[in-house]
Amino acid sequence: MSVATVRWASGPVLRARASGAFRMREAVYVGPRSLLGEVVAVHGDEIVAQVYEDPTGLRPGEEVRGSGSPLGIRLGPGLLGNIFDGLLRPLSGGRSEGRETRAARAPAPRFDFAPVVKRGETLGGGAVLGRVTSAEGRAQDCLVPPHIAGEVTEIVAAGSYDERQTLCRVRSADGAVHEIAMSHFWPVRVPRPVGERLPSEEPLVTGQRIIDGLFPVPLGGKAAIPGGFGTGKTVLLELLAKSCNADVIVYLGCGERGNELAGVLSEFPELKDPRAGRPLMERTVIIANTSNMPVAAREASIYSAATVAEYFRDQGLHVALMADSTSRWAEALREVSGRLGELPGEGGYPAYLSSRLADFYERAARVRTVNGRIGSVTLLSSISPPSGDFSEPVTSHSKRYVRSFWALDLKRAQARFYPAIHPLQSYSEDAPELAGWWDKAFAALPTGAADVRAANEWIELRRRFLTLLDEQVRLERMARIVGKDALPPRQQLALFCAEIVNEGFLRQSAFSEIDWYAGPQRQAAMMRQIGRFIALAERVLAQGVPLARIAALGVLRPLQRMGEEIGEGDAVRFGTLARRVEEEFQALAEQAGARAGEAADVR
Ligand code: ADP
Ligand code: MG
Repeated sequence: MSVATVRWASGPVLRARASGAFRMREAVYVGPRSLLGEVVAVHGDEIVAQVYEDPTGLRPGEEVRGSGSPLGIRLGPGLLGNIFDGLLRPLSGGRSEGRETRAARAPAPRFDFAPVVKRGETLGGGAVLGRVTSAEGRAQDCLVPPHIAGEVTEIVAAGSYDERQTLCRVRSADGAVHEIAMSHFWPVRVPRPVGERLPSEEPLVTGQRIIDGLFPVPLGGKAAIPGGFGTGKTVLLELLAKSCNADVIVYLGCGERGNELAGVLSEFPELKDPRAGRPLMERTVIIANTSNMPVAAREASIYSAATVAEYFRDQGLHVALMADSTSRWAEALREVSGRLGELPGEGGYPAYLSSRLADFYERAARVRTVNGRIGSVTLLSSISPPSGDFSEPVTSHSKRYVRSFWALDLKRAQARFYPAIHPLQSYSEDAPELAGWWDKAFAALPTGAADVRAANEWIELRRRFLTLLDEQVRLERMARIVGKDALPPRQQLALFCAEIVNEGFLRQSAFSEIDWYAGPQRQAAMMRQIGRFIALAERVLAQGVPLARIAALGVLRPLQRMGEEIGEGDAVRFGTLARRVEEEFQALAEQAGARAGEAADVR
């Protein structure tokens, strides 16, 4: 084992004189408390390490011991339902002990294991070794780690085992014997291998209309959520953790104040998964690295979270990773970089900020796993740009790597218009790929009026809504100069319809009993209703009906309130509303026709 002696320490960064070969990225233990650290630079016989635990009291002369392996975490079935720090140590234990002592004290969780392989069988990386069942009855497969393959020379009988116990021995082609347990070690900075990266034509269904309907993210996609203080980043990420259709949620609270995480920590254990009816925590892993925890560990925490997400992906599951926030992560990077004496770049961040962000986002994907299953990791990360300025480095670099961008707007948040995602500053580059999926959701709706159904209905309605919202900004600017009444009727109607899209479709309260979640069917029904209203309004306006009469239609209010009033699966009430829209417009058109007739008679 290589050993070094601390010569200099500044916050979480230390320099030490080494006697023995240390490797870059090797995990080290520092001082009598065995603080966990990582080698970040090696110059001749000097190493630089960052320490992931509270370095208070660290002083020159103390010993740094190499671990011989890179900084890594243990991945196993015990992760689900638990809360960890940035390096995946359980957060319930004491804070100040070293890693080994703590690990030795915490009993490894036990699970029932039932093997599905026999001695003499040959297994590839990622092959199923057996079935693991937790005390609560949650089951998952136990897989051979992706880098191991060979012939089974020993396998245990079915029974209860702890996570680290050897269950199986495998002899690989080179004769080496590998011991396999339910859990295994993986270096956090190394992405887990995949069979093949696949395109994605299915969205992560979030239940938020502005996201699914206008700016969707595919399974395996990546979205950034920038927003100034108080614009709703945390509420949105927590909401998505509860409502999205991923099989597993990895929630990373990164560098925000502890009370920001309080919602997740106190609420999640109580919540039921609306689909499975089981506690939500059973499919959740929480990684908490709040602002009062060591800054260097925050830097490592997003890699830990990505690694955990990939571990479940390799089981053939769809995983959503919520990171709140990457700005706090970048600040940790900046602080450590400063102490390393590196040359600061833009905004004081190190020059490698961009490539680090790229490495992180690169870990989002829909894949065929090494074992031939389909799984995905979808990344959703919030950004807290100082004073809400989206041109700052973290936001602008993230923009290069994400394909969905949900920009939270201070004005909308101040007007309590939630979610405060700004429809013009946001985008989804993957939307066209998801059209086929949406077509199916629309096709499953009970048919409306004959000319309501259309090919590419979602794409068309989405385009219509976005164009209206875009026009709204332009027309409002004009209306401020010339006055709203001076606009031509068609433009006044556009403003009116944009408001219906905003109020009737985009607005959705996270705290509403009915509307906190809108499933694809309900979203499709609402989109179609609003689209139909707009089409009919345009038609009667062209026939000479004044806007005032359209605005006075009785159906307008129920249309704007349908999100709050018509629940999931209530196709009957959507049908009633649709008929009412048709009838009221029919009446308007007839009156207009009658008036046109009268006018002709007079002439
Ligand atoms: P941030 O994390 O961006 O600083 P928060 O997520 O803590 O902001 O949101 C601040 C407040 O805004 C919340 O406490 C809540 O009252 C309100 N809010 C945010 N998003 C929503 C939403 N989707 N629905 C209802 N209220 C919201
Ligand atoms: Mg927040």
